[in-house]
Parts: sequence; C-alpha cells; structure tokens
Amino acid sequence: MARKRRRQPGSGGKPHPKTHGKGSRADRPGIPPVKPRRARAVPRPSPAAGDTPAPALADLRIGHGYDLHRLEPIAPAGPGRPLVIGGVRMESPAGPVAHSDGDVLYHALVDALLGALALPDIGQLFPNDAKENDGRDSADFVKAAVEAVRHAGYRVLNVDATVVLERPKLGPIKGEIRGNIAGLLGLAVERVNVKGKTHERVDAVGEGRAVEAHVVVLLAKV
Ligand code: MG
Repeated sequence: MARKRRRQPGSGGKPHPKTHGKGSRADRPGIPPVKPRRARAVPRPSPAAGDTPAPALADLRIGHGYDLHRLEPIAPAGPGRPLVIGGVRMESPAGPVAHSDGDVLYHALVDALLGALALPDIGQLFPNDAKENDGRDSADFVKAAVEAVRHAGYRVLNVDATVVLERPKLGPIKGEIRGNIAGLLGLAVERVNVKGKTHERVDAVGEGRAVEAHVVVLLAKV
C-alpha cells in the first residue's frame, strides 16, 4: 500500500503559513524582516595549495584508433591465427588473418595513441612484410606506442575501447583485457574501459567473418 507523504515546509504545493503570504514573518509585529543574503564569492583554488592542477585544455590530445581483421578457420584448417584480443587468447574455431598475432584491439589502441600525437600509424611503423613482425606479440607494438607518448612528453589519462565480435562473447574476459591494457599503459584499471558488442548478424562482422575494434584515448602534457 502506498504511504501518504507528509508535505514539508517550502517543498512546493500549498504555501506554508510561517514562510509565505499572510501570516509570514514580515507581517508579524516585533519580528524584523529577514534580509536576503548576498552570495559569497567562491574562492579559486590556488596552485600552491598542494593539489595537482587540472591540465589546461591546450595540453590535451585526443586519439582515435580503428582496426578490422578477417576471420578464417585456424591453421591447419585455414589461414587464421589463434584468436587473441587485448592480449587474451580466446577459444574459437576462427581467428584473424594477420602478419603479427592479429590482436585487433591492441592494433586499434596503438593507432589511437599514435594518432593523438599525429605520428605515423601502426602499419607505417611496423610493416606487415617485415620478417621481425611475423607472428609478433602485439603487446610489443603497444609498448612502443607508450614509449612514443612518453618521449613526446605526454601521459595517458584514460582509454575507452569497443570490440565488435559476433562470437565468442567478450564478456567473460573483459576484466582480464582491462587489466592487460592498464598494465601496458601504467594506468589504474578504473581508467580503462572495454565494451563488447555484436554486429547483429549483419555484414561481415555480424556473419562472423571479421572482428573490429574502436579505441579512443585522451593524453595530457606531463
Ligand atoms: Mg591490425
């Protein structure tokens, strides 16, 4: 049964006799009217107060990365490599066709970091015809991008990533992926977000023939 709420003074609706209209304080003899208070000026935080000042907008850089890999049956049945996303190996009969390990999320992350600094992209820095990149762990590319961020005098503030994969589901490994990215970037895990989506069974991704990832990063001048 719904409980009837008691109306509070000043909460709207029927005017309260002590504060509104007839019978208010100003109308009662011997009680002076209350003067409205002036708003106090809010003191500005001083840089010398010990707090870390918020980065100026001019010192922020945003970066976006995108990658897609075709999925094929894993060798020896086909040309696919084992499916690795965000450094986590997934059980799947299909995997990415790639020169490196084909970690679509790490590749998008690298392009987001490099893109924020207007540096050449992952394909230019790590060519897919170079022998040393054959089957290479994509964490190496992320480490190189993190070093580029440091070298440019920036630090990563946060990462937001989306992986679009029809199957298997990303949910059970999202926490592990967040931990991997946080570890590579030297961030608290709360500053890394990973979302998993399907493509609603339409187009190549939705039909399980490809996987894609989108990553946005924010950098601040150190
Ligand atoms: Mg790639």
